[in-house]
Amino acid sequence: MDAPPIHDIFVIGGGINGCGIARDAVGRGFSVFLAEMNDLASGTSSGSTKLIHGGLRYLEFYEFRLVREALMEREILWRNAPHIIWPMRFVLPYAKGLRPAWLIRLGLFLYDHIGGRKLLPATRTLDMANDPAGRPLKPLFRKAFEYSDGWVNDARLVALNARDAADRGAVIRTRTKVVSARREGDVWRVSLKNTATGETEEVKARLLVNAAGPWVDHVLTDTVGMNDVHNVRLVQGSHIVIHKKFDDPRAYFFQNRDGRIIFAIPYEEEFTLIGTTDRDYPGDPHDVKISDVEIDYLCAAASEYFAEPVKRSDIVWTYSAVRPLYDDGASKAQEATRDYVLKGEGSGGAAPIVNAFGGKITTYRRLSESMLEKIEGFLGKRGEPWTATAPLPGGDFPATGFDAEVTKLKTAYPFLDARLARRLTRLYGTRARSLLGSAKSNADLGRGFGEDLYEAEVRYLAENEWAVTADDVLWRRTKRGLHLSREQAAALDDFMRGMSSQHIAAVE
Ligand code: FAD
Repeated sequence: MDAPPIHDIFVIGGGINGCGIARDAVGRGFSVFLAEMNDLASGTSSGSTKLIHGGLRYLEFYEFRLVREALMEREILWRNAPHIIWPMRFVLPYAKGLRPAWLIRLGLFLYDHIGGRKLLPATRTLDMANDPAGRPLKPLFRKAFEYSDGWVNDARLVALNARDAADRGAVIRTRTKVVSARREGDVWRVSLKNTATGETEEVKARLLVNAAGPWVDHVLTDTVGMNDVHNVRLVQGSHIVIHKKFDDPRAYFFQNRDGRIIFAIPYEEEFTLIGTTDRDYPGDPHDVKISDVEIDYLCAAASEYFAEPVKRSDIVWTYSAVRPLYDDGASKAQEATRDYVLKGEGSGGAAPIVNAFGGKITTYRRLSESMLEKIEGFLGKRGEPWTATAPLPGGDFPATGFDAEVTKLKTAYPFLDARLARRLTRLYGTRARSLLGSAKSNADLGRGFGEDLYEAEVRYLAENEWAVTADDVLWRRTKRGLHLSREQAAALDDFMRGMSSQHIAAVE
């Protein structure tokens, strides 16, 4: 019998950083194995504010390197995934007694000029008495600044990176926990456990990438067996979702009296997303949950601006996640750096490990390129950076061509309801056609699970995007969870349990 292959790279973690690194590496010719202990994006990468942004606030902490890199990424990512990423305008009301107008103008001037902006429109000043953006706000906000950033469907960005990595030959295993990794000379012996079946497996690799997000230190101590590890500071951030508070397509950037800021963003057509908070988090990242204090804080902060206050009873959903920030010793959680740090180790012929600490969704592609530089330092050069101009699955249409893409889908499948055509284009781009196949009517889409979620979509997600449970479909690959009842979600879960044994093998 042949000895099992030794992979070049083993990646721990199926969040945005792990999947981005796996994709970049396999595209350069490395053989890659990635293990995610739960679902893809089940950690921090589905719990962000979902902005592709430079981070206006970080300028106050002199994070010019990070802000410049992030600003440059906005148009690159939009071009490569125009279905799940799109430009958004942000309205920042001027509030007396908080940051002076000149400081905001200076920040926005830098924002407009240091980030290689080509397609995104520049900053402008708004007279809130005449601009529709003033309508839902209290009349005391008479002036505002409007600037550009981007929106991303964070969980789908992860799934599409994983899909592309797999299409190029990477092995992607979900529900697979790395329980131990030990050096055997210049090779890692990695022990895996399937969290659904309990089955174990061993894999060998030349280099280990630790992209475990909030678990990155835990992996170093418990999985790799190192002592005295402390690299990241865990900072919780929570969001509330309420029924649509305003009709305008622009988002709001509100300054709070405590120096923090929150966003109120149009969300999933019918909702408004409000967040986020910043507080040190001592617990297990799996258990993170919004607290009463955070709910009160977000309602009160938004109510300072909206004419109609935001009440607890308005909330339809909440979510929380933990930022794995590189611990630079800052005194307050909100001041800890949002930049990433990569640290490699592997001298004297010992098998190397490279750890990723911190980072943003926005900078995942650049983090991956920097990680590949480190990897190539250990394993030798294989290829050139390539991801800046390579569309993600379904994103192979012009950045400004989204509406035309919806029309094309509707023409190819005339029976589709206009909203469904739009939703499928938003989630799957040109791959919506693979999902719909030869369907000629709604009946051909199979069983309906509620609203516009049909069996064809569920099967597509199971077969192509590693979806196993109803939560994977309802809260990560789509946000249909906002629309389905508990009973409908349970029926979907039953259906998926029946399917799972057949499809798990098919996605690899
Ligand atoms: P994760 O997504 O957590 O991935 C790590 C994965 O490793 C997890 O899925 C976990 O299950 C897996 N894992 C851990 N241990 C093991 C093991 N032993 N075996 C197998 N798998 C393992 N960034 C932006 O750019 N824009 C924003 O608007 C933004 N907003 C944010 C708002 C909040 C509240 C938070 C918390 C973060 C925000 N961020 C934002 C930052 C961004 O979300 C994170 O930096 C990013 O998602 C981190 O990705 P990751 O891959 O490092 O971690």
